[in-house]
Amino acid sequence: MTSLAVFDFDRTIVDADSDATIITKLREKTPPPEWDNTNHDWTPYMSNVFEHAYSAGMHPDDILSSIASMPPTPGMERLLRRLADERWHVVLLTDANTVFVGHWLKEHGLEDKVTSVITNRAFFERGRLYIEPCMEQTVCRRCPRNLCKSLALAQHCDGRPPYQQVVYVGDGRNDYCPATSLPNQ
Ligand SMILES: [Mg+2]
Ligand SMILES: [Zn+2]
Repeated sequence: MTSLAVFDFDRTIVDADSDATIITKLREKTPPPEWDNTNHDWTPYMSNVFEHAYSAGMHPDDILSSIASMPPTPGMERLLRRLADERWHVVLLTDANTVFVGHWLKEHGLEDKVTSVITNRAFFERGRLYIEPCMEQTVCRRCPRNLCKSLALAQHCDGRPPYQQVVYVGDGRNDYCPATSLPNQ
């Protein structure tokens, strides 16, 4: 039987925060957009950040090299390689986006160690970065609409044979929900 290891990305796989890294980089050129405290949806804010970055002349390469420069959490690369060697399924489940996570994994030679990445979809178009929500959920009230990690994990497991064991690693507020609904194994 296969086992599953689920990892958050920011401050878990990498010892940094990818969104904060880009916001800091943008701040070198222009003040980032204001964060509206009454809005709990992070994805529209990052979309706004990317628009500001584009207007400020931030090149896609500036964004990608900042992402690549984020250091891994000590021991994490070795852990991911070991899990892949032992044929674990490794899922990265994060409220970052496909461009950041995919680029970082590729630059660190870890792309083929990860079974799947579940996150908000992002893409460059004519030099601007766009982001789309991972999901539009209203089922779970404690998570934002764009991502409930419990739901995402259930969707991942749906239709697969049960895992022998499930290990979950994450540091953020949105890691609480899946931590309460892990299968008892
Ligand atoms: Mg995190
Ligand atoms: Zn949830």
